[in-house]
Amino acid sequence: MITEECINCGACEPECPVEAITAGEEIYEIDPSKCVECEGHYDEPQCAAVCPTDACVPDPEHPKS
Ligand code: SF4
Repeated sequence: MITEECINCGACEPECPVEAITAGEEIYEIDPSKCVECEGHYDEPQCAAVCPTDACVPDPEHPKS
């Protein structure tokens, strides 16, 4: 998920291998039904790796299954 720490820099959007990130009305958003936490693509979630404000964090309401 993306928290209100987001400053709308847009860095995360092109890094997502499953196109789960889009610009929302106020801040960027991650579609939890698409997000695979980069498993099978990279060693770590790429949005969190590039985010300058640490706004990309695990969503407690959508734990990894
Ligand atoms: Fe927001 Fe971080 Fe994505 Fe930039 S990289 S748009 S600050 S969530």
